[in-house]
Amino acid sequence: MIYIFLICFADELVKNAAYIGTPGKGILAADESTGTIGKRLSSIKVENVEENRRALRELLFCTPGALQYLSGVIFYEETLYQKTASGKLFVDVLKKGGVLPGIKVDKGTVELPGTNGETTTQGLDGLGQRCAKYYEAGARFAKWRAVLKIGLTEPSELAIHENAYGLARYAAICQENGLVPIVEPEILIDGSHSIEKCAAVTERVLAACYKALSDHHVMLEGTLLKPNMVTPGSDAPKVANEVIAQFTVRALQRTVPAAVPAIVFLSGGQSEEEATRNLNAINKLKTKKPWSLSFSFGRALQQSTLKAWAGKTENVEKARAAFLCRCKANSEATLGTYQGDAAPGEGASESLHVKDYKY
Ligand code: 13P
Repeated sequence: MIYIFLICFADELVKNAAYIGTPGKGILAADESTGTIGKRLSSIKVENVEENRRALRELLFCTPGALQYLSGVIFYEETLYQKTASGKLFVDVLKKGGVLPGIKVDKGTVELPGTNGETTTQGLDGLGQRCAKYYEAGARFAKWRAVLKIGLTEPSELAIHENAYGLARYAAICQENGLVPIVEPEILIDGSHSIEKCAAVTERVLAACYKALSDHHVMLEGTLLKPNMVTPGSDAPKVANEVIAQFTVRALQRTVPAAVPAIVFLSGGQSEEEATRNLNAINKLKTKKPWSLSFSFGRALQQSTLKAWAGKTENVEKARAAFLCRCKANSEATLGTYQGDAAPGEGASESLHVKDYKY
């Protein structure tokens, strides 16, 4: 009874979710909202107008050789309908390169009254119709970002519950409309907490999410999880990549059902090189891992590319070389074979942490 509504899409959802988790491939998160991309562009003194946003995205999606390392790209709504300078829809560029187009469907966060600045994510109203429209336009998966923070008394039970059930309701609506939902409960890196604290919070949050997904009859085989890696807070001393790998995989083993095909990490303010090395250590770890473990990086795939580009046509080739280098390094990291030899592009080791980051 429960799965009747899924009959027309079930096989497709399972196939697409599994494809996104293909070892050696991962996701480029290029779904920064107009406000967020504006901050990135202003860091290289480029004006936030549609043509510049389009040009940056064309630079990324049309980098020769890059698409072989990607299985998905997440678009912001504007990008779903944009074209290359020569008139090809970005959606078609991706499809030709064997990459599934995805779409950010949440409408950002608002504060939960009575909490210490905790938030819930908006966008459920009309979501079914929007998903159907995006499917028509070629999207095959979706992203919804819920945000939690670590503090003395945070995350609160209220924030965990509210965000878990919001993610589950979103996931059910996506599946009803043929989109694989990426379930993203991001626990911010902000703070001076220990890695143990981050692990405990990550386990509590993920356990709540999978309870909610089960309550909402979401078919886990047709979903993806996008979690934070388990790390110490941004103001705490750093630990080795292998330690991050152990804490991260243990938290996932304890909470994420084996029915989930792939876990695609966000980079969350780590530098490009840090994120790649951590992913590599996670994949090198010899232990039980019933899901593929890959990337869905935004900042950690774009920073050195942005810097190299600086909005100038004469820099496009250099910028593409930087992007290709990060895509290849992360592809290797999904296989645990990254040797730490990515050409050190400008900005590759720079922390990308922004307090209370909005996507
Ligand atoms: P970062 O990798 O920049 O954290 O972003 C990924 C993302 O899509 C967050 O929603």
